[in-house]
Amino acid sequence: MTELIDGKQIASEIRLSLKSKIEKLTSKPGLAFILIGNDPASHAYVKMKKKGCLETGIHSESFFLDQNITEQELLDLIQKLNKDPKIHGILVQQPLPNHISSKKVIETINAKKDVDGFHPINVGKALLGEEDGFFPCTPFGILRLLKAANIDLTGKHVVIIGRSNIVGKPLGAMLIQKKPFLNATVTYVHSKTKDLHMHCKMADVLVAAIGIAHFVKKSFLKPGAIVIDVGINRVTSEEKSRIVGDVDFDDVHDMCSYITPVPGGVGPMTIAMLLENTYKSFLMTCD
Ligand code: NAP
Repeated sequence: MTELIDGKQIASEIRLSLKSKIEKLTSKPGLAFILIGNDPASHAYVKMKKKGCLETGIHSESFFLDQNITEQELLDLIQKLNKDPKIHGILVQQPLPNHISSKKVIETINAKKDVDGFHPINVGKALLGEEDGFFPCTPFGILRLLKAANIDLTGKHVVIIGRSNIVGKPLGAMLIQKKPFLNATVTYVHSKTKDLHMHCKMADVLVAAIGIAHFVKKSFLKPGAIVIDVGINRVTSEEKSRIVGDVDFDDVHDMCSYITPVPGGVGPMTIAMLLENTYKSFLMTCD
């Protein structure tokens, strides 16, 4: 029997628990959103994240900036927010226009307010297994999903398809830590990997973070594998548009022991972890 890991439900429980903790506070955690340009997907993501703030009682401020804003104007705004005591987290929605350096932007955010977990200091802390930074939200959300489903990764072989800085790479670094429930054996595969199928078929846990709709088929899986689908791909068929994952759910689902759906799997957890990181940042400033 295949079990569905219900990210929507788990994320909703995390949000409720956060809400009750935040209600008891005299001042509130604050999260600033910076969004440049008119990309509809980016606007939709920020809207969902703002909704999460509203539901949990996190104060949020949004800065919608023109596509032609200069890099310096953006960096100045980040510096201002770095100093703002009401703001504990700063999120600059990616992707950025080509004339703005993503590296400069990430490195300008104070690492203590980098609730996305992209700053090199936080990436380094995640790699070292240190808990006093911010884990990047998507890999962190995947860890929490596996924990909620009571899946102990000790000794399991996890194969991650994709090596991006925001998903694949940090996820592997987190799963390999010498800590209870982790201790996984990790293999990364990517577009240059030879015989991708062979590697995937050896996975106890297969994570798909590729960005290609329905890339993972039954032929990739060992029977009973646990499948985590990170993909968010918009596809249009018969004039209807919908979101699908990197895994062909219908093809694979009766072959796995556990699987995350898309939508309703990793996506809601990413937002829940952003809210948790903001709360954590608030607590760290109060210390
Ligand atoms: P990305 O930066 O584009 O990285 C994609 C990775 O997939 C790269 O490492 C690439 O290999 C690899 N890849 C591409 N084609 C491949 C192929 N044919 N065979 C093997 N590997 C291949 O993407 P990302 O930011 O990690 O995102 C991945 C997916 O997750 C996207 O659908 C994105 O929308 C989604 N996502 C979801 C969430 C969420 O909250 N659920 C959050 C972030 C991202 P190379 O390195 O060799 O190019």
